[in-house]
Amino acid sequence: MNSYDLIIIGAGPAGLTAAVYAARYKLNVLVIGKIPGGLMGEAHEVCNFPTYDKITGFELVKKMVEQVKKLEVEIKHEEVLDIEKGTEFQIVTGKNKYFAKKIIIATGSKRRSLGVEREKELTGKGLHYCATCDAGFYKDKIVGVVGGGDAALTSALLLSKFAKKVYIIYRRDKFINAEPTWTEEVKKNKKIELIFNSEIEELIGKEKLEGIKLAPKGVPSVEEDVNTEGKKVKLKDGKEVELDGLFVEIGSVPGCAIAEKLGVKMKNNYIIVDKNQGTNVDGVFATGDVTDNPLKQIVTACGEGAVAGYTVYKELMREKSGK
Ligand SMILES: Cc1cc2nc3c(=O)[nH]c(=O)nc-3n(C[C@H](O)[C@H](O)[C@H](O)COP(=O)(O)OP(=O)(O)OC[C@H]3O[C@@H](n4cnc5c(N)ncnc54)[C@H](O)[C@@H]3O)c2cc1C
Repeated sequence: MNSYDLIIIGAGPAGLTAAVYAARYKLNVLVIGKIPGGLMGEAHEVCNFPTYDKITGFELVKKMVEQVKKLEVEIKHEEVLDIEKGTEFQIVTGKNKYFAKKIIIATGSKRRSLGVEREKELTGKGLHYCATCDAGFYKDKIVGVVGGGDAALTSALLLSKFAKKVYIIYRRDKFINAEPTWTEEVKKNKKIELIFNSEIEELIGKEKLEGIKLAPKGVPSVEEDVNTEGKKVKLKDGKEVELDGLFVEIGSVPGCAIAEKLGVKMKNNYIIVDKNQGTNVDGVFATGDVTDNPLKQIVTACGEGAVAGYTVYKELMREKSGK
């Protein structure tokens, strides 16, 4: 009974939506996911998912899981440790072995964290990992963005449409990994100030984030002229910056171990998919944050999940009819 038409690895919005579609196409489907709801469960408040103008990530997870269960799809809270492709896929978790004709990889990604004390405690209380999701909370406030790549710069530009002041805090002395267009836009933006050669040493604030303490990285130190891009920053006490919010945009790490094992092609560790969510390996599909899609959000994960569920159904029908 451990044999399925389709096994979906990952129980975030991408995997759960793929399950809804596959179940409604009457496929025999199983979801295996370590954490029900995935990253979506960590979202303090979701305001950009159509249907709800405001809902907690926790509530959204509950609703999606309920919908999948109503369709009689089982969700196993197990970790996939190994996978092999033969006539069928053989999937090994810590507890069981499963078999499937097709698989969808929906293992998402992990945001890189700052690695400073109290980070977990202040997440959602002034500390954020997604400007697209949470910029709207900072109208006329002062915010910081950590990072120096495209994600950090575009986040700062987006935040500048809401906040009265945006600091970009970066450990190097210039932006070397960002597109020149974003660097130019940032330099022109009067609301944005740059703090180079600096790392965050401490998060300040009791119930919520109220500021940061910086430590110099390299030279010049943060107490001197910290900016080689032509803007100067005055830091309170030389080292502390008062903030209402801080956005960490230092990249993410995709869950690509399964894809690697199967020889799936990747770009910068994200799975390359075609418009049907197919990969270069027959029978292997991928959806959501683990793919090379440009917008890592719940709604896009759901959209890709739907396409993957549909494509698997079409392929199985075609194979059954022998065409
Ligand atoms: C703090 C925060 C706030 C956010 N706010 C918003 C927001 O307001 N709006 C928005 O649209 N997006 C938001 N996002 C982004 C959103 O959560 C993600 O884009 C979305 O969850 C991606 O869905 P996914 O299904 O691709 O991956 P994930 O949600 O990451 O799910 C991955 C799933 O795979 C499982 N998995 C991984 N490896 C294995 C394995 N080896 N075996 C078994 N299971 C495995 C995980 O346990 C999980 O179930 C936010 C993210 C964060 C971190």
